[in-house]
Amino acid sequence: MKQTINSITISPKVVYSQGYDIQFLGLEKLHPFDSCKYSRTWRVLADRFGDRLIANSLAPLSPVTSEMLQVVHTTDYLKNLHRSHFVAKSLELDSLGFLPISILDSRVLKPMRLATTGTIMASEAALEFGIAINLSGGYHHASAERGEGFCIYSDIAIAIYSLRQSQKIHVDDRVAIVDLDAHQGNGLARIFYDDPSVRILDMYNQQIYPNDNHARERVDCSIPLLSGTKDDRYLGLLKDRLPAFLREKELPKIVFYNAGTDIYERDLLGGLKISERGILERDRFVFQTVSDLGIPLVMVLSGGYAPESYRLIADSISDVLQTWNN
Ligand SMILES: [Zn+2]
Repeated sequence: MKQTINSITISPKVVYSQGYDIQFLGLEKLHPFDSCKYSRTWRVLADRFGDRLIANSLAPLSPVTSEMLQVVHTTDYLKNLHRSHFVAKSLELDSLGFLPISILDSRVLKPMRLATTGTIMASEAALEFGIAINLSGGYHHASAERGEGFCIYSDIAIAIYSLRQSQKIHVDDRVAIVDLDAHQGNGLARIFYDDPSVRILDMYNQQIYPNDNHARERVDCSIPLLSGTKDDRYLGLLKDRLPAFLREKELPKIVFYNAGTDIYERDLLGGLKISERGILERDRFVFQTVSDLGIPLVMVLSGGYAPESYRLIADSISDVLQTWNN
């Protein structure tokens, strides 16, 4: 499909590095998290698209700098990330607290900092090419002074501040976060609590972690769901609420889409009952709605804990690449 955003023909970009995977000492067995879904997704896409994928991909070369981290996170928090026990607790993997910090940093935190660079790159690519997908990121539970729920750095917040710093967007420009991960995006709501330029739509299972009422009050469009919610209701609510949210007052200059696949019916943590088809339809609807309004879109993967997650993600991205790459 030939479609333009800001008079540029949409040409989706995929941001990925081999350094995204988190894999060591059986971590993947301690946490119900496929920590290699990033490379698995990439391999499926590489098989399907070959050189076309390579031609439309970007690779982050270095982890996000500490200067950039300090723009969003407190000095005390970043200092504490040099202590093994603090890091293990923030990851909710307390049993790893005995490991030297150098190992935790190189095997877990560094891939997350690299993915944060990826989200910054994807946000810049979205402004330039209309659509960009970072095959990682979406750490929506991390707040300025706290990591939780396997989220250490707030990559989306850092990317927003980075776009402002480089004057790719103005500080008053409207930015939208569309958070469709099964969990409430409490960290982002807390970071942007007093920043009305950033508008947040959050659709999540209200019966699971994190149950953050303070954060919930900040969300501009909150769509709490019950465990067991199925496709019809889920997609009905999304189709009803998303277009109005985006159109309210002025259109956003950019949309960050937190596309967690933990809404999947076989996910171990999400508690929702959305089918494979339902996830594809959700993603297709978000991409089409945002693009039809002429707004650049950056997607990050966020949660998704089932063994099938990588395939669901690859199917959605394949659909995007087939729709817009001519
Ligand atoms: Zn989640």
